[in-house]
Amino acid sequence: MTTIETVRGPIAVEDIGVTLTHEHIFTKNPEIEQNWPDPEWEGEEPMIQKAVDALTALKANGIDTMVDLTVPGLGRYIPRIQQVAARVDLNIVVATGFYTFKDLPSFFQTHGPGLMVDGPELMSEFFVRDITEGIGDTGVKAVFIKIATDEFGITPGVERVMNAAAEAHKATGATISTHTHVEHFTGRLQQEFFRKAGVPLENVLIGHCGDSTDLDYLKELMDNGSTIGLDRFGMEQVLRDDRRIEMLVQLIELGYAEKITLSHDAGIFSINTPPSWRSRVSPNWHHANISDNILPAIRERGVSEESIRQIMVTNAARVLTGRR
Ligand SMILES: [Zn+2]
Repeated sequence: MTTIETVRGPIAVEDIGVTLTHEHIFTKNPEIEQNWPDPEWEGEEPMIQKAVDALTALKANGIDTMVDLTVPGLGRYIPRIQQVAARVDLNIVVATGFYTFKDLPSFFQTHGPGLMVDGPELMSEFFVRDITEGIGDTGVKAVFIKIATDEFGITPGVERVMNAAAEAHKATGATISTHTHVEHFTGRLQQEFFRKAGVPLENVLIGHCGDSTDLDYLKELMDNGSTIGLDRFGMEQVLRDDRRIEMLVQLIELGYAEKITLSHDAGIFSINTPPSWRSRVSPNWHHANISDNILPAIRERGVSEESIRQIMVTNAARVLTGRR
């Protein structure tokens, strides 16, 4: 039986159900917040309750599983996620990896092969440990490996993360899930890099592709083997949802339903884009937008239940399973 690791332990892949593949719950910065508390972080219990309420409503609306891609660099703290997971029916799946657009923290700049504290590449060991043994002392195992390639491209720091991700993929088979910047076509850079590194592009989920209206670029990524994430529904300050829906419907009509996953990249709290800013600038950017608005809209456009199931269930189960 193929199982998928969730925060509450392994479940059968058949039970994954309708899945959001790229979300966040709490995006934090402990060092900033320990010194300069954020007034919008209302405290541990109130914020955990907020997440529990939102995810309980989401489950009632037909979402069964959420992937929380909050990795180190974004304030991953699994004990807090465990408290949420213990109080909701919805499955939460977590990730390893490292989130940076440019540089690594000084810890990684001083530790590694040929560096001041000479030794092995700890990052790949950390990623593998998160997937095979569990994160910290929680026993919770990561499923995806997250990397980011933004407007600066593959900087030396990003290259180290991507190399570590490739190593961890080869050791574990886990899918690499990415952040891209569509105006700089960084999904292309990622495919070139991982192809050279010996990672099958079928095992790379290229994220944030829904920010693009360039059909040729998206087709190229999928024709090369990758699944793409149309994973920022509601992030209308980048691209309006009607344009995102238009791209999704076109791709399905062109026969790409097997290569797409949907999500919001939303969160309950983010120190980077706080709740007050989000509700002012992008009020539809929340975890319920797909179930409340997007799926009804594409049904109205004639997208079949079969295609919706393919995208929301079958594709999600495939990328969560990784290489087996
Ligand atoms: Zn994200």
